[in-house]
Amino acid sequence: MIYLDHNATTPLHPRALEAMLPFLRERWGNPSSPYRFGSQARQAVEHARAHIADRMGCAPEELVFCSSGTESDNLALRGVAGALRSRGDHIVTSAIEHHAVLTTCEALEREGFRVTRVPVTADGVVDLDLLAASLCDETILVSVMHANNETGVIQPLEHIAAVTRKRGIVLHTDAVQSAGKLPRRVAELGADLVTLSGHKLHGPKGAAALYVRQGTPLTPITTGGAQEHGVRAGTENVAGVVGFAVAVALAFEDADAEGARLGALRDRLECEVASAVPGVRINGRAAARIPNTSSLSFQDIDGESIVLGLDLQGICVSTGSACSTGDPEPSHVLRAMGLTPRDAQGTIRLSLGRETGEGDIDATVRALTGTVARLRQISSVSRMTDGGPPGGQQG
Ligand code: PLP
Repeated sequence: MIYLDHNATTPLHPRALEAMLPFLRERWGNPSSPYRFGSQARQAVEHARAHIADRMGCAPEELVFCSSGTESDNLALRGVAGALRSRGDHIVTSAIEHHAVLTTCEALEREGFRVTRVPVTADGVVDLDLLAASLCDETILVSVMHANNETGVIQPLEHIAAVTRKRGIVLHTDAVQSAGKLPRRVAELGADLVTLSGHKLHGPKGAAALYVRQGTPLTPITTGGAQEHGVRAGTENVAGVVGFAVAVALAFEDADAEGARLGALRDRLECEVASAVPGVRINGRAAARIPNTSSLSFQDIDGESIVLGLDLQGICVSTGSACSTGDPEPSHVLRAMGLTPRDAQGTIRLSLGRETGEGDIDATVRALTGTVARLRQISSVSRMTDGGPPGGQQG
């Protein structure tokens, strides 16, 4: 199998697994229990927190562990909305956020909040002027992701932070796709709240975090326990956070070198596909992108068919976000970038990772070239038998 869907999830690093196993087998105590067996589990959680905080450049108390990037996004948005409701009712986000943010915004709208979704440029970068113009005295929160999960395009967070800081508005960023890929410390992003997720950086599923800059107002969204400084009730996933900490440490160890390696492989993939296949568009190519992600739109064919065709050859890629697989609607991210519904439907995402090597790229380019040619031939034959001329030009 060639796995090129690391933005959906990544394999657990063997060292993370090794560190987790004792907490699944022998040291399974509850960190909130008062006896030593419990406090050993507590120590493991706090050790993991300190470790991640050290790599991420924040204080341990500023990290709230939770179960997923989705929960972390929910906590950020609903938590600030709940805490600042009396101050204002306006939230600003972008048109290209993950559904964890967009759907939560829709839920907040049903609760009476107003939400502005700022458009992006053709390269998938949030329009800074429109964002600044959308802020008003009632704006309590801006939520803009760091790197987009479908295109890899990096958003100008420092510029956004400069504006929100001046106006005293809380800034949240979903850094699920950039954490560990860019050697950046959370505090440097300029955001007050940062979402991280373990399984996107070779850690386990079920372990994630929200960075909460000291003093940021946040109402808990779960009740029934005093865990995580009272912000996130529920027994901690001890093994999960231990594995998460190891994965973060490993990612930061070689983020520069690994980023350069993946960037070179990704660029080679795009270059070779673009020269071998006519009618291909590389989405977000002119913008700064995380190095592992490539979004390719192929004219006149369906991305879903390419995914299935590659799957038959043992290659895993996706049409976009794993969370919207099976959704017949074209990607909201690509539509926001100005792609037609047809071009958006003809898009696949390839996301590289630690195990990806040159041979995988060569094999993928060969398989993709053949698959696209075959699908185009089939679609042109079916158009001819339907009575229309090849190329889809009706009339
Ligand atoms: N945010 C982004 C940008 C993502 O890509 C994802 C997952 O694909 C999530 C949030 C959700 O993270 P999780 O799978 O940990 O819930």
